[in-house]
Amino acid sequence: MSDPQGLFERLATPAVRALRAYDPGHDLVALRARFAATELVELGANENAYGPSPAARRAVLDVLNTLHRYPDPTGAALKDALAAHHGVERAAIVLGNGSHELLMLLAQAFAAPGLEVVASRYGFAVYALAAQAAGATLRLAEALPAGHAMPRGHDLDAIAAALTPATRIVYLANPNNPTGTWFPLDALRALLRRVADDVLVVVDEAYAEFVTAAEAGSALTLLADHANLVVTRTFSKAYALAGLRVGYALAHPQLAAVLDRLRESFNVNTPALAAAAAALGDAEHLAWVRERNAEQREALAGALAARGLRVAPSQTNFLLVDFGRDAADLEARLVARGVVVRPVGGYGLPTCLRISIGTRDENRRLLTILDEVLQ
Ligand SMILES: *Cc1c(COP(=O)(O)O)cnc(C)c1O
Repeated sequence: MSDPQGLFERLATPAVRALRAYDPGHDLVALRARFAATELVELGANENAYGPSPAARRAVLDVLNTLHRYPDPTGAALKDALAAHHGVERAAIVLGNGSHELLMLLAQAFAAPGLEVVASRYGFAVYALAAQAAGATLRLAEALPAGHAMPRGHDLDAIAAALTPATRIVYLANPNNPTGTWFPLDALRALLRRVADDVLVVVDEAYAEFVTAAEAGSALTLLADHANLVVTRTFSKAYALAGLRVGYALAHPQLAAVLDRLRESFNVNTPALAAAAAALGDAEHLAWVRERNAEQREALAGALAARGLRVAPSQTNFLLVDFGRDAADLEARLVARGVVVRPVGGYGLPTCLRISIGTRDENRRLLTILDEVLQ
């Protein structure tokens, strides 16, 4: 069946017409089948190489006999666990089907045609998508220049300079994907002092649990003093529950109430609610993951630098590696040998690849195969 004279394209709202569908990249199902014997090395999606807490797996099994029931639409048990964990009230928390959903809902609720959204060049791709879907205008602030200690990182002065009276949302990622870079809490404090009350500052902390640098700091400590600050977190990365889709936002209770009106009532499913609460309760597993990741991050960054490659500073579970030449063919040759990494040409970084940090064995395989293709 064909779309008669582009009918549906014309019927779509202008904001939707401007969107492009998510590019899923390589067909991982086919690649897994093709490399079944040797095992595919999957370092393309910043997933957690170590898997979730055993308690999370058990929690999923424990709810299997309740799948005919709708999930708890209030997510009360998980919210209470999160409230205790972060020392906030339950009303300050909104649960999302991944933090992606919450980033989109924020724009849907607070941006619109004629209003503006500010983000940084090389900022996480979802911010542009959220602005576009809401029909708002996206303003990109220049990133920090090459030669800076945090090249391509967010420049919070440039962010402040990009604000206009029409700005309603500023999206910041700390640390950022795909650059891995981060900004100190003092820079955020200074930005918050310069931003008007009617501008929401959204700090996406998807990788917060991987951070080991003391000066990086979390925006959570500033929430009580700034009603316009929103912090998003996810169970997809350090908690290793990407397949279940759970994220959350921490914000002023009245802001949380606005988002809550907009979200689908049963947006977080029963196994996801149970697993997330269990994962949150296993501090030991999280600490173990953080330690392994930090140790492998240092080892892999060192091994890549020793090969003459430029590796951006990272506080995450991935590295942005600059090959100094177009990296598209390199990426294709890695995949052909069973190593999946993430091309970032779409971010305007054609000479770079984003490589998730795997286990020690996975990183060894990556380096062996990288040496073959770099020959
Ligand atoms: C992975 C990621 C997310 C979130 O993912 P969800 O799985 O939707 O929670 C959000 N922000 C950044 C910067 C990410 O890299």
